[in-house]
Amino acid sequence: MPLKINIRHLEEKDLHLQGDLPAQELELDDDELVRARRPLLYNLTVRLAGKDVLVAGRLEMTLDCECARCLKPFCFRLAIPDWVLHLPSDGPERAVLQDDVVDLTPYLREAILLEFPQHPLCQSDCEGLPRRADASGQKAEGSGQMPMASAWAELNKLKF
Ligand SMILES: [Zn+2]
Repeated sequence: MPLKINIRHLEEKDLHLQGDLPAQELELDDDELVRARRPLLYNLTVRLAGKDVLVAGRLEMTLDCECARCLKPFCFRLAIPDWVLHLPSDGPERAVLQDDVVDLTPYLREAILLEFPQHPLCQSDCEGLPRRADASGQKAEGSGQMPMASAWAELNKLKF
């Protein structure tokens, strides 16, 4: 089911939408390193501003990524805490209505695509596939930094 709202209903009161949208609805193309298979979670308020429709709220989606440097799989939590969408009733950007119903799905798709990681990294300072010499060198020094094991434990908490 796409995410649709009937703007007639907004004339009476604001609408609160909370739920999840299956990833298939967003028709996101699979990237080699980024896969969107889990549902998009939304928590949105929709209201009328004059004749325009205003949507605001939070979007969240967990992406299954592969690190561009070390190729390890990891979860990337994409979150847009303050998403705002303004749908004018007029002009080139106006909302496309069908029997007073507007489909938010394409707008959600666009918002998510804009936040897709272009170069997914398991952690910002990932050093890629360790060469043998480097790996042993790091172990010898390894002070003050978070050990790899606990860094992975942190990442694993993100998995469901
Ligand atoms: Zn990595």
